[in-house]
Amino acid sequence: MSSATVVCNRRELGKMENGSLNFDDQSETHNNSNSNSNSNKMSNGGKPKKNYRLVSYDELPNYMKDNEFILRYYRAEWPLKRALFSLFQCHNETLNIWTHLLGFALFLALTVVNAVHVSEAVDLFGIFRTFPGTNTSHDSSKLFMFQDLTELVSMKNRSHPHGGADQAHHIGAIRWPFYVYLGGSMFCLLSSSMCHLFCCHSHDLNLFLLRLDYTGITVMIITSFFPAMYYIFQCQPVWQIVYLAVISLFGAFTIATLLSPTLSSGKFRPLRTILFASMGLFGLVPAIHAAILNWSNPRRNLVIAYETSMALSYLIGAGFYVSRVPERWKPGWFDLVGHSHQIFHIFVVLGALAHYGAALVFMEYRDRVGC
Ligand SMILES: [Zn+2]
Repeated sequence: MSSATVVCNRRELGKMENGSLNFDDQSETHNNSNSNSNSNKMSNGGKPKKNYRLVSYDELPNYMKDNEFILRYYRAEWPLKRALFSLFQCHNETLNIWTHLLGFALFLALTVVNAVHVSEAVDLFGIFRTFPGTNTSHDSSKLFMFQDLTELVSMKNRSHPHGGADQAHHIGAIRWPFYVYLGGSMFCLLSSSMCHLFCCHSHDLNLFLLRLDYTGITVMIITSFFPAMYYIFQCQPVWQIVYLAVISLFGAFTIATLLSPTLSSGKFRPLRTILFASMGLFGLVPAIHAAILNWSNPRRNLVIAYETSMALSYLIGAGFYVSRVPERWKPGWFDLVGHSHQIFHIFVVLGALAHYGAALVFMEYRDRVGC
C-alpha cells in the first residue's frame, strides 16, 4: 500500500467523534448532527448536500455486520462514486482493498514481463540459471491439449520441432497453462479488491460482490492446477487430462453452488468451506503421484520448497481468517491496521507468488526437457 496515496493517521482520525468520522461530499463544513443516519442531508444555500461519515459496528445495517471485533471506521450505504473515492481514504477496508489491488498490479506486471520475454522473467528470480540444460528428444506424437489455443500464445523464442530430432537447449514449452494461472490469480485479486471497495454500497451489491469474491477464490484454486498438472504430467497425457478435467468440473460445480441464491446463504457456509477445502486437498492426489514420478528430478527440492511455502501461506492465512485473531483479543485495537482479514490477504498474495515460482520451474524444465 502506498502511504503517499492513502493517508491513515491518528491526526485525521482524531476528527472522529462518537465512533464516526465525517467525509463530506465536497470540502464543506462537517455536519455535526447527532443523527444516526449515514448520509445526512445538509442545507447550504438551499442545496441539499450529503455527508458521509464512518460509523461504528452497532450502526451498521444487519447485512454488513460480519466481524464484531472491528468496532469502528465502517462505511455504510455509500453511493458508488463515494465508495470509489474512499480508495484514498482511511477506513477499516482501506488496507483490505490495497493489499489485493497491489497484488493484482504485481501479477499484471509479471504477466507483461513474461509476455514480452519469458527468459527475462526467469532472470528476475536468478535461480533458474543454475539448472543444467538437458539435451533430449521431443516426441511430436505427444498429445497437447488445445493445440490450436497454444498457437495463439506461442512465444518469440519458442520452437516446436515436429520431427522428433534432438534439440538444443530451447525446446519451448507450451505457455497457455502458465497464463491461465496468472489470469486466474489476477481475477481473484481484482475481484477481492472490488468486493472490499464497493461492498458498502447496498445489500444487493454486497451479495453480488461476495459471490464474485468466492468465485475469484475458486478460479484461483482451479487455475493453480493448470501449470502444475500440465507440465508435470506432460509425458503422461492421460493423467494430465484426468487431473485437469476433474479439478475443472469440481471448480465449475463449486462456482454453480456459490452463485445459487439458495446455496450462497449463511446456512450453507459449511458446504462452501467443505468445497474450498476439498479442492485444495484434491491437490494432494496429483502431488503424491508427481512426487513418485519425479523423485529423482534435480528440481524436486526447489518445487517442494515452493509448493510447501504456498500451502503454508494459504493455511496460515486461512487460520487468521477463521480465528479473527488478533482483533478478537483486543476488540477495537486493530480496526484500521493489523486485523485478521488484512493478514489473510497478505498470505494469499505470498501463497500465489510461491506457486508462481513453482510454475516457472515447471515451465523452465519443459523448455529444456521434452518427453
Ligand atoms: Zn478479502
